[in-house]
Amino acid sequence: MIRLEQVSKRYPDGTVAVDDLTLTAPTGKITVLVGPSGCGKTTSLRMINRMIEPTSGRILIDDQDTASRDANALRSGIGYVIQHAGLFPHRTIEHNVATVPLLLGWHKRKARERAREMLAVVGLDESMARRYPSQLSGGQQQRVGVARALAADPPVMLMDEPFSAVDPVVREQLQDEFLRLQAELGKTIVFVTHDIDEAIRLGDQVAVLRVGGKLAQVAEPAYLLAHPADDFVADFVGKDRGYRALGFVDGQVRVHDEPTVRLGASADEARAVTRDPWLLVVDEARMPQGWVEPERLTAPIEAATLALGGTLARQGGPLRNALDSALSSPSRRGVVVDDDGRLVGTVRAAEVLQQIEAADRPEQRDDDGAAALLEQTGELPVVTGPPPAASEPRRDP
Ligand code: ADP
Ligand code: MG
Repeated sequence: MIRLEQVSKRYPDGTVAVDDLTLTAPTGKITVLVGPSGCGKTTSLRMINRMIEPTSGRILIDDQDTASRDANALRSGIGYVIQHAGLFPHRTIEHNVATVPLLLGWHKRKARERAREMLAVVGLDESMARRYPSQLSGGQQQRVGVARALAADPPVMLMDEPFSAVDPVVREQLQDEFLRLQAELGKTIVFVTHDIDEAIRLGDQVAVLRVGGKLAQVAEPAYLLAHPADDFVADFVGKDRGYRALGFVDGQVRVHDEPTVRLGASADEARAVTRDPWLLVVDEARMPQGWVEPERLTAPIEAATLALGGTLARQGGPLRNALDSALSSPSRRGVVVDDDGRLVGTVRAAEVLQQIEAADRPEQRDDDGAAALLEQTGELPVVTGPPPAASEPRRDP
């Protein structure tokens, strides 16, 4: 556990970067510090490993005051990852990753073996080991930065905007892999970002800072979205916080039976199944493949001609996925699958929204209820076509 107690930092020029910050980062969890540029995130992080000394207050790691420890020894037990990875340009990737083990006096061969192992852990091919940082993409360099921080297996990791400099698609991959890695490693992590989406995605707990280094609120992501402490936090987490919050709400949405047709079926077969404009196509294993419009078919159904629709929702998953699925489907019926990816049935956006309204979340009622959601998600899908014949909620298979 890392504990900051009334920590302040005033730089020699008088700038108060951090003001009376009290915060606990629990063991084995990801604590995210988020806030606008200049709000003191980097300063806070660097005070934990004593790259910067606080002006006042104390910082404890596992109840030991960091001020009482040798700064170098302290740092070698703390992994540190920064934006642009901060790799040594004239050292090979392998050598970069082996840095801390070598500093700790490991045998060269053992350090190199460890480096190769860590490269594999972060998903980099062995062939990268002998390259230099400039020969890697930004995303790959960032992985090397993570591998380097993990090499000596420190219990604590400090990460300062580690994914901010890579493009959004790579960033999402890195975030996913980071979460997967953390699920295995269970490090105590303080993660800094200016990106609220990243904070909510990664944080077990999120601390919002405002300029001047003052803590505005610390809470679990779902709580932060539902109960922003003040206008600053509400503004920072954004107008679409109601929609984001759905990612944390599991709800029982009514799942309707959905008529289907198999790949390879003829146009006449498809037209015989339903009079609805859209018909769902599945394979032999009842895995959804896409949608067809029976009236427009002129040939047997082929994979290449399907309208793919959007995301699939998993049965019992968050309401946000159910809503995404409905809104991204050409038929406006969101496809729900079980854990094996087999069709369970479909959900209607309007019913998902009703479910949200029904959920007892008084904090959402004033300004963030379903009405606001409707505005944000644009046009509401009108449920067209006849209701499915058997519209009983489907039981678990
Ligand atoms: P963030 O990481 O949230 O962008 P920083 O911790 O880097 O914020 O900076 C917080 C505030 O302290 C900013 O106003 C910044 O200009 C100021 N600052 C940072 N480092 C120094 C320094 N060495 N001397 C004076 N002011 C600094
Ligand atoms: Mg910073």
